[in-house]
Amino acid sequence: MRLRNVKGSREMIATNDFVVHEEETMKGKWHDFFENENPIHIEVGMGKGRFIIDMAKLHPEINYIGIEKYSSVLVRAIEKQTIEQLPNLVFIRMDAEAIENVFEKDEVAYIYLNFSDPWPKDRHARRRLTSVQFLNRYVNFLAADGGLTFKTDNRPLFDFSLEQVELAGWEMVNYTFDLHHSEYAEGNVMTEYEEKFSAMGNPICRMVIKPPK
Ligand code: SAM
Repeated sequence: MRLRNVKGSREMIATNDFVVHEEETMKGKWHDFFENENPIHIEVGMGKGRFIIDMAKLHPEINYIGIEKYSSVLVRAIEKQTIEQLPNLVFIRMDAEAIENVFEKDEVAYIYLNFSDPWPKDRHARRRLTSVQFLNRYVNFLAADGGLTFKTDNRPLFDFSLEQVELAGWEMVNYTFDLHHSEYAEGNVMTEYEEKFSAMGNPICRMVIKPPK
């Protein structure tokens, strides 16, 4: 994805109270950080943050952590959160390749992956956030009774992900190739990309999975 550099975004992130820095030192301490025992849900690759901000507003009883690789995108989420001031939402700027260094075993109750980058070349398959390599990373910190929801309009990526879920031994709870016209449509919270691609007429695929027993 080609990104427009947003001037001053790195500096803004470095000093913003809604961004957690030195995230690896937080491993095992996230509940202390939020000062409660509420479940922790994360979105990996949250982009400009519309979904996670709406979720945090809807569910004040849940703590949310949004993870995004690029400062130029993260800065847009920070701008929204600076207006909202939601006490149950913070962000981390990092590459999720190192995600298992940030969360302790069982520390996360739920993972959201929304419109993850497809990495279309085969040689980049391990970078896809639903690859076996990533699913194995999530197992290190996702609670045994936790789960993961993945949405995309990219059918090849979704088909790949269905295979990877099986290979990694995760349990399929349900899936659909057309979320907005399915029995699961009610209560769906839209992401920025979801709004854009569904407006173009693309059906949205969604799966809900659970980690291996
Ligand atoms: N989830 C948002 C949505 O649905 O509107 C954004 C989708 S956008 C296509 C994918 C986002 O994931 C981008 O902002 C990208 O920078 C981020 N991303 C991709 N790979 C990542 C990684 N390894 N670690 C953290 N963020 C990543």
